[in-house]
Amino acid sequence: MLEVTSVSAGYGALTVLRDVSLKVGDGEAVALVGANGAGKTTLVRTVCGLLRARGGRIVKNGTDITATPAHNLAQHGLAVVLENRRLFGELSVRENLILAETVGRKARGADMRFSWDEVTALFPVVKERLASPVELLSGGQQQMVAIARALLLQPDLLIMDEPSTGLAPKVVKDILLVIKALRERGMGLLLIEQNVGIASEITDRAYVMSVGSIVHEIGPGEWQSFLTDERLVKAYLG
Ligand code: ATP
Repeated sequence: MLEVTSVSAGYGALTVLRDVSLKVGDGEAVALVGANGAGKTTLVRTVCGLLRARGGRIVKNGTDITATPAHNLAQHGLAVVLENRRLFGELSVRENLILAETVGRKARGADMRFSWDEVTALFPVVKERLASPVELLSGGQQQMVAIARALLLQPDLLIMDEPSTGLAPKVVKDILLVIKALRERGMGLLLIEQNVGIASEITDRAYVMSVGSIVHEIGPGEWQSFLTDERLVKAYLG
């Protein structure tokens, strides 16, 4: 369970997040949607310790991780796929994955949630390109490497920031299939997504963010009524 309570954060004199609270239960898939610049990425960066929270608390499985740096997140079962992927471009796919596997092994010991074979089986393309420097891969292939790497960190909750943005429809479809397979295995998911069609396809419920605050909640079973209410969609997503 991830619990974000009254979190505020920003950059220099700019306050972006104001009093943001949200929860993701064990094995639950929750979306965070909102227009450009709403503060979604800022929330991801704050939760994963890349940006310091100025107030509030972030708790994972009962442990306060508000001040936990990003490199210690795996110990708390949290892995993130950032928008810019943050892979080591000059290293091979295999080297990128081995680094993650090492961290995951340290975090989980013998009790691994995802083995190397399972992860590479989820992404045949990744398996074919293990020897290739990451920078030679297409955007879609790099996204798959980024997800594979996150899984090797052995999370029970995956945070994904716009995993489909800028990718070809075929690749998006492949990635959605993998996310669905992970969900069936009980993986928790916090999906940051501007495309509400995609978000509604793979999550149970959602938070809508606008100008740094949560302004609306889409409850379980409410996606369809939200999406067909033009007034709501326009008001919250522009
Ligand atoms: P997008 O979908 O475009 O990524 P977002 O909802 O993720 O939007 P953020 O990227 O969190 O929004 O940006 C929220 C606000 O914070 C914006 O006004 C943005 O200009 C500002 N901001 C983001 N990163 C920085 C930074 N490194 N320094 C200063 N301001 C920033």
